[in-house]
Amino acid sequence: MHEDEKKYGKKRNIDDTLKGISASKKIPKSVFVLLLVLYAISTFYLIANSRSEALISIFGNPVPATIFTGVFSSFGNICIILLVVMFRRVGFFTSISLLFLQFPMQMVTFFISKTYSSIPGIFTNLVTIIAVCIIFANNRRIGKYQEKMREIAVTDPLTGLPNRYACTVLMDNLIKKNIKFTLVSVNLNNFKTINDTLGHKAGDEMLKEIANRWRILADSGDTGTFDFVARLGSDEYSLVIRAYENEDDILKTISFYEKELERKIMINNCDFFMSACFGVAEYPNDAPDSGALYSCADAALHEVKRVGGSNKVLRFNAKLLKTERYLAIERRLRVVLENDEIKPYFQPQFDMEHNLRGFEALARLQDEDGNFISPVEFIPVAENAGLIDQIDNSILRKSAKFLAEINKKGFRNIKISSNISVLHLMKNDFIDDIKSVFSEIAVNPADFKIEITESVMIDSDDKALERIEAIKSFGMQVAIDDFGTGYSSLSYLHRFPADMLKIDKSFIDVMNENEASKQYVAMIIAIGHVLNLSVISEGVETKDQLDTLKEIGCDYIQGYIWGKPLPLDEAIKLFI
Ligand code: C2E
Ligand code: CA
Ligand code: CA
Repeated sequence: MHEDEKKYGKKRNIDDTLKGISASKKIPKSVFVLLLVLYAISTFYLIANSRSEALISIFGNPVPATIFTGVFSSFGNICIILLVVMFRRVGFFTSISLLFLQFPMQMVTFFISKTYSSIPGIFTNLVTIIAVCIIFANNRRIGKYQEKMREIAVTDPLTGLPNRYACTVLMDNLIKKNIKFTLVSVNLNNFKTINDTLGHKAGDEMLKEIANRWRILADSGDTGTFDFVARLGSDEYSLVIRAYENEDDILKTISFYEKELERKIMINNCDFFMSACFGVAEYPNDAPDSGALYSCADAALHEVKRVGGSNKVLRFNAKLLKTERYLAIERRLRVVLENDEIKPYFQPQFDMEHNLRGFEALARLQDEDGNFISPVEFIPVAENAGLIDQIDNSILRKSAKFLAEINKKGFRNIKISSNISVLHLMKNDFIDDIKSVFSEIAVNPADFKIEITESVMIDSDDKALERIEAIKSFGMQVAIDDFGTGYSSLSYLHRFPADMLKIDKSFIDVMNENEASKQYVAMIIAIGHVLNLSVISEGVETKDQLDTLKEIGCDYIQGYIWGKPLPLDEAIKLFI
């Protein structure tokens, strides 16, 4: 058994495990012995000292040694009080016994030796006994209160199961002892429907019944493994499983919990058949600490919920974290769009003489902690989730307000570029979306340019051309973004009614590495000019790049060399 304990930790039922988690730290027995020894020493010196007639010299003056009696007496009492405070019941009975033991000695001194100097000692003893009793009684009250608080801290009030904190402490303890275990995140299926249709009271009954069944199962040991069940909140539970050999054992244990759950549950005279999904992660294989383990188990759980189907259990694998991040971004996007919190940043665009021409509006998304999530990451998520048109519209609307403010300050030549996803362009309400912005905000559409990536010319049919025509007849301009990265044919480019070509940063990055790269950029600029388009280079970072672009006849530039994307309030400050 000792070997087993080392390998798996102690087998306990849930209540005992909780008690173990919530118990206060025990003070070592050695402290108890030390206090007793100190007490014995001080009592010995107290007796020896009180009978001594010796004189000792303090600063050259002879004084009777008995003046130290009080010091030894106080020291002994301090030991007594510490015993009661630190060791509660045991300390109290030990102290009281020691104090009562002093009485016979003091009585002998008083009645037989007729030494009246022992009277203060008797009084001190009595007072100490009373003090010890008061401290003990008080300590008991505080102790009971602390115990209650600790119990509350580790239990879920609704079901009485351990809560997330208890589950984390248990896992941390197992990790400290390097004991292998598996965390299973559990989420009930369709619990919300029960809450919504039958009310919260019935929902609570359901959660309690499930908790009860699982607690009994965990305590019974029928699963063949050591199990611990906790409720983390709403319809989320977790299982910590130990003492198994392989994955089959884990799956077998989970199937026990599934079966218990799937038995009929009767609430308000109605029969319910519940089911749940399970995400599985193992220490130390999947994660090194409890926090990461929760994330892994949750990632597996979300995936199994997302996929649906008959399989309800999934073991964590590294690929899931990517999916998890993806879903987290999608959730965040929905919240941010709902609250209209997606922000535009404005990156300045200049002509080659460094005169400000306008800005490109770039969408910015922040997570809950205020960290920025790159558009390279969230734009594809938004496109997949069907949220991209909301982003494009929001950025265009906020850019229009920004330009209206600049115009009000008397600056009239500023142009704004706003990105539009091809997916948005192809939607039927695209034109209406754009028009509604300009009907709300009094700015001239001619000061706006939409940037559409070159891929529009490869992927799409004539519908894209129609849309672009419609935008142009509304007065707006069009730029072909990331130009050079696709394989657009010259004939299509010729038909495409754009106003500007935007050379992609990847070409600017390598432009000065060799003559061929430089000539490639020069050729794009020449084609642009032949087709009557102005040309802007993006991602210009160095003086060399700037010089080359001037030399080969580029019209505009955008890049860190002259300006990074700015938040709205800083961009506004450029106009005073
Ligand atoms: P993009 O349209 O090609 O935008 C240019 C990107 O290059 C921006 O990155 C900009 O911050 C960055 N950049 C500009 N100059 C420099 C430079 O000198 N050095 C470096 N290292 N980078 C520079 P950002 O803001 O991360 O945007 C990435 C992409 O996300 C954009 O590429 C665009 O395709 C997309 N995007 C951004 N906002 C929106 C939006 O509102 N709607 C849509 N549909 N797409 C957007
Ligand atoms: Ca762009
Ligand atoms: Ca680009």
